[in-house]
Amino acid sequence: MTEQAQREQLVALAKSMFERGYATGGAGNLSVRLGDEHLLATPTGASFGRLDPARLSLLDMNGQHLSGDKPSKEVSFHLAIYQQRPSAKAIVHLHSTYLTALSCLSELDRANAIKAFTPYYVMRVGSLPVVEYFNPGDPRIGSELAKLAPDYRAYLLANHGPVVTGSDLLDAVDNAEELEETAKLYLLLRGNQVAYLSDENVAILASKGV
Ligand SMILES: [Zn+2]
Repeated sequence: MTEQAQREQLVALAKSMFERGYATGGAGNLSVRLGDEHLLATPTGASFGRLDPARLSLLDMNGQHLSGDKPSKEVSFHLAIYQQRPSAKAIVHLHSTYLTALSCLSELDRANAIKAFTPYYVMRVGSLPVVEYFNPGDPRIGSELAKLAPDYRAYLLANHGPVVTGSDLLDAVDNAEELEETAKLYLLLRGNQVAYLSDENVAILASKGV
């Protein structure tokens, strides 16, 4: 895919997410790798609904801003993940309603915030480790994510929101949407007896992927 096509795809996917309520105001950010050397990211404070392909932030993999508008400060934790997870080619970070609600619960299992109860969650996300709360912009968010990145595809920042990787931007967006729906179901089911998937079925699904 050409750089121009990547820019247009990022803007179209962000707009679609905005229109369906996955992002509001200027919250959240997206990034996608352009080959080995560069990263395209959403600018600081930019609404997913009003991005301009020509003004997206272009950075090198050390975080040096090369062109376009100033990147979100949260791009620093995207870079930390890319360094530790070469298979990740795109990252979606949202402050989406259900995952952010989940991230504010005090009794979360920090090793995996959502125990599997549907197969697509296992195939797309697997499990959801939790990063303890740090204020936005704190470099410890990146260092904690870097520790998890080799082993996990998605992460939940406590009292903040999800960070989801993918093999390309479309895959990362699909994974993020699946995860948000899973959180919605999880919260709908709270207080009910849930039939979780067996460890055996989870292991089979996890080895398959989508
Ligand atoms: Zn954020």
